[in-house]
Amino acid sequence: MANPHQCKSIRQAEAWIDKDEGEYWLNINHVATQQDLEENSFLEEEGQTTDSVVLNVLYCPYCGVKLDESRYETIPTFTFHDFSKW
Ligand SMILES: [Zn+2]
Repeated sequence: MANPHQCKSIRQAEAWIDKDEGEYWLNINHVATQQDLEENSFLEEEGQTTDSVVLNVLYCPYCGVKLDESRYETIPTFTFHDFSKW
């Protein structure tokens, strides 16, 4: 899927914005550090995704660009995935 928005802030993290079903979605992943591996035996390697959140947005929260020119409101929702345990 084409990335509909690129900005400097997002490129510095495991984050991206995509568009699905007419809405823009901010995706942010938390990745395991060496310390996470030492504290959680379920984790296998540094850099693996431990949890992620996806929420709908009208604007990029980092640079302020309006992503969806045709909408003025959206109903907030999100999904959260925890990959750090069974
Ligand atoms: Zn941005």
